[in-house]
Amino acid sequence: MKEEEKIFVTKSSIPEYEEYCSKIKEIWNTSLLTNNGKLHEELTEKIKEYLNIGGVTLFTNGHLALENAIKALELSGEVITTPFTFVSTTHAITRNNLTPVFCDIDKDTYTIDTNKIEELITDKTTAIVPVHVYGNVCDVEKIEEIARKHNLKVIYDAAHAFGVKYKGRSIASYGDIAMFSFHATKVFNTIEGGCLAYDENKDLTLKLNGLKNFGIKNEDIIDQIGGNAKMNEFQAAMGLCNVEHLDENIEKRKKVYLMYRKLLEDIKGIKLNIIQRDVISNYAYFPILVEDSYELSRDELYELLKSHNIFARKYFYPATNEIDCYIETANKTPVAHDISRRILTLPMYADLEEKNVKRICKIIKEKK
Ligand SMILES: *Cc1c(COP(=O)(O)O)cnc(C)c1O
Repeated sequence: MKEEEKIFVTKSSIPEYEEYCSKIKEIWNTSLLTNNGKLHEELTEKIKEYLNIGGVTLFTNGHLALENAIKALELSGEVITTPFTFVSTTHAITRNNLTPVFCDIDKDTYTIDTNKIEELITDKTTAIVPVHVYGNVCDVEKIEEIARKHNLKVIYDAAHAFGVKYKGRSIASYGDIAMFSFHATKVFNTIEGGCLAYDENKDLTLKLNGLKNFGIKNEDIIDQIGGNAKMNEFQAAMGLCNVEHLDENIEKRKKVYLMYRKLLEDIKGIKLNIIQRDVISNYAYFPILVEDSYELSRDELYELLKSHNIFARKYFYPATNEIDCYIETANKTPVAHDISRRILTLPMYADLEEKNVKRICKIIKEKK
C-alpha cells in the first residue's frame, strides 16, 4: 500500500523565498543586525497598527516577553492563573519568584473560570494571569471587575490570540498588558518572537526597553537589572513579510475551520470548540473534546490518527499543575484535569488541503 502523506499538527507560514531575500537585503545596507534596527522599528509600527494599540514592545520570543511583563509590574507573592495552558505561562510566574495559584477552567471555553477566582484571592495576591487559550476569549469583563475590586494587575497570555477581536475591540486592549507569541507555530510568526501590548499612556515602553537590554537606559545610565530579550533584524524581516499575508492566511484558516466543523459536527461524542458571541476569531487551532459517548478514548484516537500518518497533538496535556515541577505543591483543578485528558488539537494551518481535512474527518467518523 502506498504510504499516506504525513500531516503534522501545524505548518509555519512563510513568505516566498524572494520576498524574504529582498527584505533582508536592507540589512546589508546598514550592517545593523539587532538593537532596534530599522526593520525592528518598522515592525513595531505595523503591529501597533494591526493590534490597534499605542504601546508595543517586541521581544525575541513570547516567553521572555511574558517574564518581562511580570517583572515590569513589580509583582510579589501569589498570582492566580490557569493550569490549562502551555507550560510557559506557569514558568514565567515561577521564574519571577512568584507563587502560581491555579484556578480551574470553564468547561466550554477552557479559559479561567471567573466564578472561582475570588475564592483564591488572599492578602498575598497581586495579579491574575489568564490565557486566551486557542484564541477563545476569557471573560474579560468579569476579570476586569474582580481586578478592580481587589486592586490586582492583569496580564493576559494572548499567545494564541493575535488578531482576535472582542466586541469590535482588539484583544490587545484588555488587561494591563497582553503578551503575543510570534513563534513559528503561531498564526503570525517572526520565526521566534513575541511582543507586549499595552495602553501607551501606561508608560511601560522605557521600562520594557531597559528590561530586554540589560537595564541600559542610555550610554551612561544602567538603572535596572535587565536581561537580554531583544528581537533581531532577521526576525523582524520575517514579521514584515508575514504580516502582509496575515489576513489572507486567516481567511484560508477559516475555510479549513468551516470544513472541519461541517464534517465533524454530527459525530456522537466529539465536542467541537465553542463559537463565542461577539468574537472575531483568528482560527488558530482546531481542538476537539473526546467525550465518553465516543467509542475510543482520546489517546486511542490520537494513536489511530498516528497510524494513518496524521499527527494531532494532546494540547494541553498534562495541565501545568500536574507536571513534575508543580504537582507536589499545586492546588487541584478537576475540570482542567478532565479536559486535559480528553482534548486533542487537529492539524490546522492555512495551506491544509481540503482532501486532507476530509481524510482526517473520515478516520474520526469511521474510527478505523
Ligand atoms: C507559544 C506560547 C507561549 C510562549 O511563546 P514563545 O514565543 O514560544 O516563547 C506562551 N504561552 C502560550 C499559551 C503559548 O502557546
